Formats: sequence, C-alpha cells, structure tokens
Amino acid sequence: MKRAVENLLETAGRALSELGDDPKALDRARVRFLGRKGELAQLFKQLGQVDEQDRREAGRVLNEAKAELEALFLKALDKNRDLAAAERPTIDVSVPGRRPPRGRLHPITQTAAEICRIFNWLGFETVEGPEIELDYYNFEALNIPKDHPARDMQDTFYISEDVVLRTHTSPLQVRTMEKRTPPVRVIAPGRTYRRDSDVTHTPMFHQVEGLMVGKGISFGDLKGILTTFVHQMFGQNVALRFRPSFFPFTEPSAEVDIECVMCRGKGCRVCKGTGWLEILGSGMVDPQVYTYVGYDPEEITGFAFGMGIERIAMLKYGIDDLRLFFENDLRFLQQF
Ligand SMILES: [Zn+2]
Repeated sequence: MKRAVENLLETAGRALSELGDDPKALDRARVRFLGRKGELAQLFKQLGQVDEQDRREAGRVLNEAKAELEALFLKALDKNRDLAAAERPTIDVSVPGRRPPRGRLHPITQTAAEICRIFNWLGFETVEGPEIELDYYNFEALNIPKDHPARDMQDTFYISEDVVLRTHTSPLQVRTMEKRTPPVRVIAPGRTYRRDSDVTHTPMFHQVEGLMVGKGISFGDLKGILTTFVHQMFGQNVALRFRPSFFPFTEPSAEVDIECVMCRGKGCRVCKGTGWLEILGSGMVDPQVYTYVGYDPEEITGFAFGMGIERIAMLKYGIDDLRLFFENDLRFLQQF
C-alpha cells in the first residue's frame, strides 16, 4: 500500500509539472487523481483488503497522501490564475488622459456674432424671423409687386404661389415694424436661399439685415452708423465710400465699398484692379414701405442695410473660395 501511494504521488507530481497553463488539462488531472472514481479513491477502496493490524497505518498514509495531493492541485490552480491575470489587459492609471476633441464655432457663426456684437453696442437689438416666408413679406410689402423686374434678380425657391424660401433677410424690416412703434433699431441675422450655384454663389447663404427708424433719422445717421461698423469690423484705417445704387425698398440707396483688404487699394485680382470691394447695400427706407406697416411717412424716416455674412467673412479672413464654408473640412474649420 505504501508503495502504491508513493507511486501515485510521483505520477501526480509529474503529470502536474507537464500540464503547462491549460486550465482544462488541470481539471482533467484533478478528476484523474482526486475524483470520486479517481486513482486515490481506488486506493481507499483497497483499504478493506488490507490486514487488520496494518489497516490503521495504511489509512493514515492514504489520508496524508490525499492532503498532499490536494495541496499540489491548489498550488497548480493558483499558478494558473496568476498566468490568466497576466494575460488580461491591464489599466495603467498613470498614463495621461486622452483629450476629447474640442468643437469651435463655424467661421460664419463667428462672423455673424461679431457683426451683431458691433450693432448691439450701437444700440441695435438682435431679432430673428422665419426662413419659410410669405411672398407678402419677402416681396410685396418691400415694394416689390408681382410683376416687378426685381423679382427676376432674385432666383426664388417657391414653395407655393404665396410661400417662398426667403431670398433675403429684409422681410424682418416689415415684420419688426408691424409689431413695434418707432423708434426701432434692430439687427437680423439668418439663412437665405436663392436658386444660384457657382464659385461665388451657393443656394443657401447668410445675411444680416439692419433697420433704424424713428423721428428725424437722416442719411447722415446711415453714414455714421455704417462707417463706425466698417471701422470696428475691418480696422480704423480702412477707407470706405458710398456709391449710389438702387433697391426697390430704399430711396435713395447706396452701396458701401471698402478699400481692398488684399492690396490696400492699389488694385489686384480680388478687387479686379479697382482697389475697392463692395460689402453691403443700404438706403433710406422707401416711404411706400411705411404705408404697409402703418407708420406715417410724413413723420417717420429711417434707413436699412443688408450684407452677406460669407462675403464679410471672406474679406476679414482672406478666404478666396466660398465653397470652403460649406464643405466642413476640419482642416479648414480648425483655423478659426
Ligand atoms: Zn485689391
């Protein structure tokens, strides 16, 4: 019996050392030696056949062997666990964290905010209106009746005969004056739409509309406010000029040019050699428009102006392709 036990321990020791780190092989070995029908159990069964005077001693030897085997397997199991733990991915808490990418405001949004900030500082309140607009506000009440040639200038998206995607932010002039009594000083940024698409036009673009009406407001106020704006936006030393123009809803009308920001007025490709760049349209509100909103044209005067935000952004940041604003290329956007 003693020899059989020694044999068993030796075989088990060898088997364990040859296991490697396969947990399934370890389990198979455990069943083979310690299982209910395993090799140790077989020896216990033979106890009955041992002579009575030796049985006690044999039992002691078997129990010792059992304890020894169990200890061997526990050790092997521990080793196995350590190996499994070493293979698991570890977390290094001392590695610096990854910064999540930080968003920025789109250059168009930034430019619109800057324009509004300047006019807010001049006492203008920011207002907004619908992008899907009634023909009445987009055209009719701005002195552009159905058969007016100015409608051809604006390639309009019609939703129905009376509903359009607004072609400019000017409807806000009428909507604001309808709701308020003078004096009114508002600035209205927003999206506008025209059926137009090439290097210098996109079907959707942004405008800012401004309106200042009340008693005794003159063309001098228009010049003063817009000159202040240009100097705030482009710098105190930038020259500007007012050039006569035509809009159906202002009379007289003037376009504002600034000294070319690329060549400082010397003449270049961007300003087509003139040294000047057009940046906005403006004029004294046509008395006809007041009759649509119930103001007295004898008593109330004022001016309106509008500008393309993309154009202002291009001139301010020296961008030469309008399409960059809409491609959402992060390499471009991250520069702002
Ligand atoms: Zn130039």
